[in-house]
Amino acid sequence: MGKVTGFKEFERKLPAKDAPQERLKNYNEFVHSFSEEELNTQAARCMNCGIPFCHSGCPLGNVIPEFNDAVYDGKWEEAYEILSSTNNFPEFTGRICPAPCESACVLGINRSPVAIEEIEKHIAEIAYQKGFAKAKPVTVKTGKSVAVIGSGPAGLAAAAQLSKAGHDVTVYERDDKPGGLLRYGIPDFKLEKWVIDRRIDLMRQEGVVFKCNAEVGVNVPVTELKAFDAIVLAGGSTIPRNLNIPGRELKGVYFAMEFLKQQNKRVGSSPFQEEAILATGKNVLVIGGGDTGSDCVGTSNRHKAKTVTQFELMPKPPGQRTDAMPWPTYPMLLKTTTSHEEGCQRFWSINTKAFIGDDQGNLKSALVVDLAWETDALGRPVKFTEVPNSEREMPCELALLAMGFLHPQHEGLLKQLGVGLDARGNVNAAEGSYKTTVDNVFVAGDMRRGQSLVVWAISEGRECAKKVDEYLMGHSVLESKDSIA
Ligand code: FAD
Repeated sequence: MGKVTGFKEFERKLPAKDAPQERLKNYNEFVHSFSEEELNTQAARCMNCGIPFCHSGCPLGNVIPEFNDAVYDGKWEEAYEILSSTNNFPEFTGRICPAPCESACVLGINRSPVAIEEIEKHIAEIAYQKGFAKAKPVTVKTGKSVAVIGSGPAGLAAAAQLSKAGHDVTVYERDDKPGGLLRYGIPDFKLEKWVIDRRIDLMRQEGVVFKCNAEVGVNVPVTELKAFDAIVLAGGSTIPRNLNIPGRELKGVYFAMEFLKQQNKRVGSSPFQEEAILATGKNVLVIGGGDTGSDCVGTSNRHKAKTVTQFELMPKPPGQRTDAMPWPTYPMLLKTTTSHEEGCQRFWSINTKAFIGDDQGNLKSALVVDLAWETDALGRPVKFTEVPNSEREMPCELALLAMGFLHPQHEGLLKQLGVGLDARGNVNAAEGSYKTTVDNVFVAGDMRRGQSLVVWAISEGRECAKKVDEYLMGHSVLESKDSIA
């Protein structure tokens, strides 16, 4: 432990951010960096608990007290070694993870938790600056080959691990550039895309082959996969939940991903064919209170929307621990994102009943109603009714549906491979096995577990790679969460 009394001496601090009005001038990241001295004091707050709950709070099993210790001692190379032994991409999670590790931090019981996520980001960035983050091509190859379908965080993590185990890995991606939702879902103001390119360059140097504009089951025949000894499906959960209410067909009602993907392509100078969806000068209604919704809020404000309003069907969370929400707290539920700081009116317990259009079929307003929620004995919302006389029209010329994703696309790849699906329509494979109902086909990430988080996708990619390695070699040299914990 670096400094025994650190947690008593120092307060949690986060790096400064550009002021909201400054951020809105561009799509760049706006969080400043810590100095090495600030990092040192933040790492010193780690109590090195007898039972580090942060390990189990992190889906990757990151060994957090150990890297905090190395940071406190200024041993950057050691800190990076420790961190990258469980997390292939700390530069991604250090920027966009909701940090369940911080919610599990014991110091968080009566003080602010250790700033683990920021420490993680800085370890990664310093590793790139000082040259510790570099390609490590393997010298002993196994002669086995693996196709990974999808280049989101799950596919990338699986590819990185399988390449490390000595297999020849080819990643197929239907988009023009790799990264999945990291590239075309999450906006640049949360994750600039050079961060992905920098990592992909290292993976290419390690021998991973990326084939883009390659949709397996569409313009790449599934039969091409027969050339590989194993296949990892990491195609994400891409079918959005719709809002089937009157007026859904009006011009001005879109899925969030139609809007976000287009904007990310605009920023990245990638071509797109669809008609431009712009929030400029409009009253924007974002339906859905999660990450996707807040990314729509931040993007609409950068487009210079007239107003931005966000709806959430569920009631407003209490903002403090309750019986329904004991420690460790769930950060997603309490979250006010930086996008909300930039300007947004938020409503909870509200339902949209219809979209109303003008004579030309353009959206002009939404018919909404307030909801009253009944709760169970623990205070959890279980049932709603409409509040009488609360129905009203709200002007909006652009509505963005950000209500989550149902399951992966079944047409094409999955149907042609004939893999089994679970009751929710995700690819069936028990957690811990990652093996589908087809012999040499495995699955990881949102395609298996349903819509989730980047940190879970990386975790699934790593664990799946170990199972593939065992399948191919009879044993595996790769680490798993269980062997580290
Ligand atoms: P994806 O990232 O979806 O990648 C799947 C890839 O597979 C895609 O590139 C797709 O084009 C490709 N593909 C699919 N089918 C084929 C095929 N047949 N052939 C070739 N390629 C194919 N999580 C966080 O932790 N923090 C956040 O801040 C956050 N923000 C988010 C914002 C938005 C707008 C969205 C939609 C999600 C966000 N998430 C966030 C969730 C997170 O991005 C996902 O959980 C994660 O990306 C899932 O990773 P994945 O690799 O399983 O799938």
